[in-house]
Amino acid sequence: MKKADCPVCDALLELDDKVVSGELIECQDCGAELEVIKTNPVKLREAPQEEEDWGQ
Ligand SMILES: [Zn+2]
Repeated sequence: MKKADCPVCDALLELDDKVVSGELIECQDCGAELEVIKTNPVKLREAPQEEEDWGQ
């Protein structure tokens, strides 16, 4: 089990050992979508908001 801080709410998150960089996870505390940018040690950042056009 790996641990990392949520950059949004500072909660300590537990991540799978097999987590890979680029993976998107959800903060268990605030629900923010986070992107794994490093795995050793794990570093997270807020995932970019996708602005998809659902109106098609
Ligand atoms: Zn959070």
